[in-house]
Amino acid sequence: MATTAVLSRFGASDRAQMAADAGRVIERLRKHGAGPNGGVTRLVYSPEWRAAMADIEEWLAEMRLAVRHDAVGSRFGRLVGESSSVVLSGSHTDSVKQGGAYDGTLGVVMAGCAIGWLARNMGKPARTLEVYANCEEESSRFASNFWGSRALTGRIATGDADRLTDENGETIGSAMRACGLDPAAIPSARRQDLGAYVEPHIEQGPVLVESRDVIGVVDRVVGVRVIRVTLNGVSGHAGTMPMANRHDPLAGAAEIIAGAERVAREMGAPAVATVGSIAAKPGGFNQIPGEAAFTLDFRHPDDHVLDAFEHELRKLIQEVSAGRGLDVQVGQMLHQTGIKFDSKICASLEASCSESGVRWRRMPSGAGHDAQVIGTICPAAMLFVPSQGGHSHRPDEHTELADIASGIEVLVRTLFRLAYQDS
Ligand SMILES: [Zn+2]
Repeated sequence: MATTAVLSRFGASDRAQMAADAGRVIERLRKHGAGPNGGVTRLVYSPEWRAAMADIEEWLAEMRLAVRHDAVGSRFGRLVGESSSVVLSGSHTDSVKQGGAYDGTLGVVMAGCAIGWLARNMGKPARTLEVYANCEEESSRFASNFWGSRALTGRIATGDADRLTDENGETIGSAMRACGLDPAAIPSARRQDLGAYVEPHIEQGPVLVESRDVIGVVDRVVGVRVIRVTLNGVSGHAGTMPMANRHDPLAGAAEIIAGAERVAREMGAPAVATVGSIAAKPGGFNQIPGEAAFTLDFRHPDDHVLDAFEHELRKLIQEVSAGRGLDVQVGQMLHQTGIKFDSKICASLEASCSESGVRWRRMPSGAGHDAQVIGTICPAAMLFVPSQGGHSHRPDEHTELADIASGIEVLVRTLFRLAYQDS
């Protein structure tokens, strides 16, 4: 039905209005968990989180959207359509510790502005539109691993609410109860009415800024693998053990780390490898370590390439250990397959960029996002807007209002296609 619907003119005054609205709401939400230098710490189910969610509810209601929350406390602002199939758009509202005001929150703000504009200018859609203010994505308080979108897709196991604890030993279930949410009701958060999901988000990297493109049409999220490498050698006195006699596991780790960097460079972008955590035992300045353990995180959008990448890295680890007479153990910490987003939504995003006259590029996401979880139950895709300086997860996260307005226009056009022209 309604395939002939035509979008009202989205002109310069609309763009100016969207920039002003988005800027105002970002500053309004920044207050909840505000720290030094404009930073934000808003952990799920904290007082700051509750205040932000109350504010989001108020804002959605101001736009005459029907507001509700699900069992885990995610908020929804609904514009009822002819059909019950839902086109969902938004992102998460929690932050990392001392993060910025844009990661996650900007996606909620952009979706709210876009759906608010459609409600005011286009009336009732064919498919129902909903703004999604997801409760939690960052795992910054609990190791909750996409809590909000896992609830939405029915992937929270019974017992998770009592098992996951924060650094003070409080369970996520008890934190939920303190917010008036009942962990026993989590299964009711599962959605079976989703027809599409579009997640706007800051890029969190430098690609758009460097290329001067304004929109990233994200067609996939990379696969992530993390291994933990433990090397055991022979500890000893830093002064008396000749170099020729040593089996130093930390020196072996250093060789592997430099080698992993070389392997990733040789594979070429977007392959990346990172050692983010390392520990040596016993750890005295005058002792040759007996053990060195580190994590190795490596990512690539193509699972076959990722297999080859892992093979090269494991070969390197074995060669270095053998060459230095070290015992080695390699354990898997994370094995997350990538996801390819819906080609039709990506094409729709591109057409919307062209209509809006903004520069765009297709790109993968190197970071994990809710869309990779929700994309397993309905067609999904993402759009990125530039992160100034490529910065993210720090207080100086920033995106220019002009870029945000362009992103909202692209989102308006895409959601219009999905909700007013498709049925
Ligand atoms: Zn995020």
